[in-house]
This record gives sequence, structure tokens and C-alpha cells, in this order.
Amino acid sequence: MNHPCPECGATMAMKSLEHEERVGGFRVLDRACMALTCEACGAADLSLRDLQLRELRAARIVLLDRADAGGEVYKYARKALGLRQIDLASLLRVEPETISRWENGRVAMPRAEQLAMVALIDVAEHDPEVFTRMVRGEPAGSGKKLVIRAA
Ligand SMILES: [Zn+2]
Repeated sequence: MNHPCPECGATMAMKSLEHEERVGGFRVLDRACMALTCEACGAADLSLRDLQLRELRAARIVLLDRADAGGEVYKYARKALGLRQIDLASLLRVEPETISRWENGRVAMPRAEQLAMVALIDVAEHDPEVFTRMVRGEPAGSGKKLVIRAA
């Protein structure tokens, strides 16, 4: 916690870091990010995971609030999830060409799929190991305390 600022050597402290994220044609103001921040020069120490979470939060809120979010937003959300078109197609059980059509704006993404993207974001945000298994096509429950058996 008390390592000095890599830029100027001053003390770092946990601070709320306001950030504006560009998501397609929208701008999301994010006040949810906490980061070790330099009290002198303002440099912030953000991990790759912090940056990913910021993108996931931004994609999530736009998908939730804008039913007609648009292709750039779908592409942004997929990339924030770290997925290729083929991975997302497999998760949503659609053809890869369908993802491509949504992203280039030729076809509107149905609301149900938008909300499915939100569900994927929630898993990636709160349970990254389960998300990784889902992308690999493995059971989400393996190695967890919840086990599914036939009734
Ligand atoms: Zn500094």
C-alpha cells in the first residue's frame, strides 16, 4: 500500500478516480473506479484488470440503458470481454456472420441478445474464472461449490 509514486516518488493513496469512457457514440462518466493515486502529481496506478473493469462497466450501462446501442457499442462490449467474434457467436449460439452484421450495423441486435451480453459482462466482472470456462465451452460449475445433477 505504501509504495511511492513511480513518477515523482511522493506518497500514493487510494482515491476515487473519475473517468470518462467513450463507448461507440456515447460517453460514460465512471466514478466507480478506486485506484492508488499520487497525492503530488496525480499519477494513478491501474492494473490491466482495473482497466478491463472500467470498460466492462461502461459497456454494461450503455447496453442496459440504450436498446438501440448500435454496432460500435456491441464491438466495444465484445472487446472489453476479450472475445473474438467467433467466441461470442459460440456463447450466444449464433453464427459468426450474425455478430459481424450486428457490429457493422447492417442488422440491429435483438434486445434479448443485448441483455445476454450484459449477463456475460456480469459473469466476467464478478466471476472471471467461470467466464474463462464458459469461453472454453467447459461447464461453468466445475470446481465450484454448486453442482448440477439430473433430478
Ligand atoms: Zn507522483
